[in-house]
Amino acid sequence: MVNKRKTGIMGGTFDPIHVGHLVTAEAVRVEYGLDKVIFIPAANPPHKQELNVTPAIHRYIMTVMATCSNPNFVVSSIELDRSGPSYTVDTVRALNAKYGDKTEFYFITGADAIGELTTWENVSEILNLCYFVAATRPGCNSDLDSVINYFGEKGRDRIFRLTTPELEISATDIRDRVKRGRSIKYIVPENVESYIMKEGLYL
Ligand code: ATP
Ligand code: MG
Repeated sequence: MVNKRKTGIMGGTFDPIHVGHLVTAEAVRVEYGLDKVIFIPAANPPHKQELNVTPAIHRYIMTVMATCSNPNFVVSSIELDRSGPSYTVDTVRALNAKYGDKTEFYFITGADAIGELTTWENVSEILNLCYFVAATRPGCNSDLDSVINYFGEKGRDRIFRLTTPELEISATDIRDRVKRGRSIKYIVPENVESYIMKEGLYL
């Protein structure tokens, strides 16, 4: 069997993208020998339907700005190009149909997101289509072992854990800081900070 290349997928709302996302994606890329990480902003995140999420185009632009200096990071508009809720299963199906004969996909998440995996649409099919790498995220004690055990053998085969540098950063906190006029320097890339200020986001 040919050796497939390994590609990471970093899905998220990215409202806004921050250093926690970037450090995690780079750590998983290096540790798992991924050729690249594809950042995929969710157009209509199914778990945040009732929340006031920033228009997808702003989140997409910030994701491009944040990743442009890393030659191994790319951004995909695949979820912006679809209508309806942005289900991960549709995205990994499409990526596998296009690249699956040569590529193995590794979906990167924080510990909080992996804790909710059992609630994702068609999760069993997702686990057939990609591996998961759960980065330990400080402050979130969701029990990765119980998620792995929930899926039995498939969980043990397909879900991995990586301890990453502890960065207690969340987009929720960043939005709150902007609203209160507090600094967000060094927790988002400088160009993302400029974009947030220029567009008046999170005020
Ligand atoms: P929000 O506070 O709005 O939920 P967030 O900071 O959690 O935003 P998301 O876009 O919801 O960011 O998360 C995308 C992915 O990044 C998820 O898998 C999440 O677990 C992970 N993630 C978010 N922040 C960190 C962090 N500081 N370290 C590691 N992973 C993170
Ligand atoms: Mg989150």
